[in-house]
Amino acid sequence: MTAEEAPEAPVAPVGAAGPDEAAPAPALQRLSELVRRVNSSTDTAEVLEEIVHGVCEVLGYGVAAIARLEGDTLVMTAVAGPDDVRRQVLGRRTPAAEILDEFRQADRWGILRFVPHGRMDNARLTAAWIPDFEPDDDPMAWHPEDALYAPLYSATGGLLGNMAVDLPTGNRIPSIHERELLEMFVVQAGLALSNAQQRERLAEQVRLGSTVKEVAQAGSQPGIEAILSDACRAVQRGLGATQVWIRCYPDEDRANGVAAGHPRPSPTGAGVVTLRADLSELWPSADPVVVHISDESCDRLPSSLPKLQQMMTSVGAFQVVVMPMGVALSLLGYVVIGFPGSRGPLRASELDAIAEIARELGRSVHSARLLETEQRLVSELRELDRYKGELITTISHELKTPLTTIIGHAELLGELHEHRSVEAITRNAERLNRLVQNLLDYSRVQDRRAAVRVDVDVIECCRAAIDLVAHLADTGRVGIELVVCCEQVSVSGDPEDLSLVVDNLVSNAVKYTRPGGTVRIEVACDDHEVRVTVRDSGLGISEADQVHLFSAFHRSSNPEALSIPGTGLGLAISRRIVESHGGRIEVESVVGEGSTFTLALPRAPHRTP
Ligand code: ADP
Repeated sequence: MTAEEAPEAPVAPVGAAGPDEAAPAPALQRLSELVRRVNSSTDTAEVLEEIVHGVCEVLGYGVAAIARLEGDTLVMTAVAGPDDVRRQVLGRRTPAAEILDEFRQADRWGILRFVPHGRMDNARLTAAWIPDFEPDDDPMAWHPEDALYAPLYSATGGLLGNMAVDLPTGNRIPSIHERELLEMFVVQAGLALSNAQQRERLAEQVRLGSTVKEVAQAGSQPGIEAILSDACRAVQRGLGATQVWIRCYPDEDRANGVAAGHPRPSPTGAGVVTLRADLSELWPSADPVVVHISDESCDRLPSSLPKLQQMMTSVGAFQVVVMPMGVALSLLGYVVIGFPGSRGPLRASELDAIAEIARELGRSVHSARLLETEQRLVSELRELDRYKGELITTISHELKTPLTTIIGHAELLGELHEHRSVEAITRNAERLNRLVQNLLDYSRVQDRRAAVRVDVDVIECCRAAIDLVAHLADTGRVGIELVVCCEQVSVSGDPEDLSLVVDNLVSNAVKYTRPGGTVRIEVACDDHEVRVTVRDSGLGISEADQVHLFSAFHRSSNPEALSIPGTGLGLAISRRIVESHGGRIEVESVVGEGSTFTLALPRAPHRTP
């Protein structure tokens, strides 16, 4: 619409009519009814019907019709008049440009446009409906080729439709007073279309908003295929599209990329269309590109146009919107949405929603890819860990038999000849034997499947551990003290494993305590758990070493501790066992003052997951 076509206020208000030309009572009554209906009814078609019938019945026109603008075409929606005229005119489609052209040649009668006979060109005359009667010579007589229109505008000046009337009362050109009355009906028609437009816009906003939301929700689907397929369905339904295609370009996890289509599946093999050359040039600009089936060139997608038109032909789409999809600087793929020929140009709100949909999808695909990479790495690490465990078990088993033989023979030799070399062989072989045993324990608790659960007396475990280290404690002049809360405290668990944990804590305490030091073992319990505290006055462990203390093969950096033989596996094995019993193991330590290890086990039976 150009400025010259902008709506104007009516020339004169109704009150300006002379006393002899006062608006007839039925006209005002009908009008007030219409005003009420226009403001309250949501059925636009019904209101428009009432308006055209009011114009004929109250103002006496032979024919009245209202056309609504759909895209760039005016579609005749409501017609009042003889049946044969209604049949001929209803549903008629006229390009809006033709009518606007006609308005330019019209006389302005306030908000009405009058095109007197002789001005309309022949093409329009043939297309228009012309009443069949003989013209009169009287200059005030209505001529069959006269046309009286009223363009209907929104409050913001956009063309919404057009009202046309023919065959005025007495077949005479309407007087100013009659025109003013007609204008009042025209204003109501404009309001009805304006209300309808607002309702449609609101409904569209809701529809587009929920489509974007559905696409965002598709992002929570497991896997890119499911995300794309759900998004295709949501977009096709929400935008009333003929076809939707979404494609993700290949990445290191998927050499062929991923694609989805709805209602038809995405092409495969030789049929795959990537559009990558053009989209890489566009990205990271994220504006939708609209392509029509009849376009001969496309500046933004120069090399993709023929492929896009092929895609459109295959599904009967007349226009497509191409929207690159990605995050930050990386182009991940595209969204292509095809629309049928019956629909008009896409509105700005729809193009904005498509851009938002592609942004949502870009984010979802990016997160899904990160998750897939993470899952692949985790399963690779698991496989590596399983292989490591298998290797440790196999090698340890292979070492165990020859070592036992070596130790046996070395002891025999030692009994026969007391020689330093024999002693060294025995000592080192036993050290190796301990390492192998630790390795076997470690891989056993790592790969735990079934769990033994019986009542284990924790105090008994502590006493057995003290017996085990008694010789070492005597030699190292370390005093051991056991303090218990009661006679017997049981937990449910694997007796062999729990003994291994207590033995390890007690032997470490003795091992890493200087002569003259003490080790105090305390057993306490409440209704929920049993706690064994092993406190020593030994070397202590630095804060940095405490961080990795329970990791396999970790030995503290303190040179004095390092000089004491050990494998760095005992605490890793202990933690694994304690956790499989639903308990916890903790350390508090100060270098030079000593360490306190606390083992806490639940009293209720615990099932290994
Ligand atoms: P190992 O004692 O066989 O080396 P552990 O896993 O039992 O293996 O212990 C890991 C490391 O933690 C030890 O090498 C030692 O440096 C340190 N550590 C463990 N217990 C104590 C303790 N009570 N006092 C000081 N250091 C300790």
